[in-house]
Amino acid sequence: MHELSIAYDIVKTARRAALDNHASQVKKVCVEIGEMSMVNPDQVQFLFDTLIEDDPVMKGAILENSVVAPETRCTCGYRGDEKFVCPGCGALPELVRGREIVVTNIVIEVDE
Ligand SMILES: [Zn+2]
Repeated sequence: MHELSIAYDIVKTARRAALDNHASQVKKVCVEIGEMSMVNPDQVQFLFDTLIEDDPVMKGAILENSVVAPETRCTCGYRGDEKFVCPGCGALPELVRGREIVVTNIVIEVDE
């Protein structure tokens, strides 16, 4: 299942950031999900919650998903968000952005 490995990666990334910064608790993880990644954000959310349930550092952390619109370009010079047909020449544009899943921000709590 695609979403499970993604949720797992998000947890792993957040966890490492917390450990590197001697954090006692992860509060929030912000993730950008490309619209073309074919990932269901609700399912990632659910799996994230399940994965962190028994993790003392991650427990209670909020996952904030934002869906990122695709960005395409074409050999004719077109740049925009048309995914399938270039409005300039009718060819299939190349996807520049919109397939990736990126952890953009992690909010942590550090003990004194
Ligand atoms: Zn074109």
